[in-house]
Amino acid sequence: MVAVLAGGTGGAKLAAGFYDLLGPGELTVIANTGDDVEIHGVHVSPDPDLVTYWLAGMIDERGWGIRGDTWTAMESAGDDAWFRLGDRDLELCRIRTELMRAGRRQTEAHAAVVDACGVRAGVVPMSDEPVRTHVKSRGDWLEFQRFMIVERAAAPIEGVEFRGVEAAKPAPEALAAIAAADAIVIGPSNPIISIGPILAVPGMREALSAARAPVLAVSPFVGGRAVKGPSDAFMEQAGYEHSAAGVAHIYDGVVDAIVCDERPEDLPVPALSTDTLMDGAAGRRRLADETLGFASSLGASASARDR
Ligand code: GDP
Repeated sequence: MVAVLAGGTGGAKLAAGFYDLLGPGELTVIANTGDDVEIHGVHVSPDPDLVTYWLAGMIDERGWGIRGDTWTAMESAGDDAWFRLGDRDLELCRIRTELMRAGRRQTEAHAAVVDACGVRAGVVPMSDEPVRTHVKSRGDWLEFQRFMIVERAAAPIEGVEFRGVEAAKPAPEALAAIAAADAIVIGPSNPIISIGPILAVPGMREALSAARAPVLAVSPFVGGRAVKGPSDAFMEQAGYEHSAAGVAHIYDGVVDAIVCDERPEDLPVPALSTDTLMDGAAGRRRLADETLGFASSLGASASARDR
């Protein structure tokens, strides 16, 4: 059993590698919900949805949305048009929204989306309670999606807040997956805005500490920089290097080991140095396989850890 913590791109790609490698029911992805937004009359949950689309093999090449989707609904989107959602994507969001309005937990509602996509793995929101990431830029706090889409993630970053997180609890399914896992992998997602909210949910760090499985982080920095997106700028603003050392530092007390493309002897925790760029399905599966092999080699020593 493998549990992967993920945002929507790097972590989702690695999760797809694990899905390819493992049998049905052997993977649970715990996904960030800090990027969620209520728009177009539905509850959009970008990271859990992207993970689900990656696992289903439905993800569009542009990195979000569903391949071959149509855009009819967007023609009458009015003021909401800044946030584009394909018709099939919107339909899947409606499944979640209707279940949540009927009183189901977000985790249960997302499970219906996972089912509708034919995915045989768990994709679990980090929490059933709402957490909303905000980014401060030029003195104003922006909802995360406005920062990413309207500002194209290019505006200066002056602060990050996970609003609501103090009142959130880890989803029970996330805790169960962490407890049952043989390996726990923090995927190569943005450490600040994708993994940060997950680790900020009260009780999540304690659950990872109490887990019997080793916890490994795969660095999202390839050749010293993010493959895509604003991870470098977010790390800099928070005072961390965008490197495996920065990853080790930010996950200090959480991880037993790191997978990265840098020299392992330069790091404070055991490290596997390998090619961490996931090129196509074969590249995703290879990195998942190497990460799992490294986790098994750590098993005994990690159980004696002091994190
Ligand atoms: P978002 O929610 O879509 O922004 O996605 P994530 O936070 O999950 O992913 C963004 C991160 O994925 C960036 O820091 C990228 O460097 C990382 N990433 C994307 N592709 C790869 C890859 O092939 N290998 C590694 N190691 N990281 C990757």
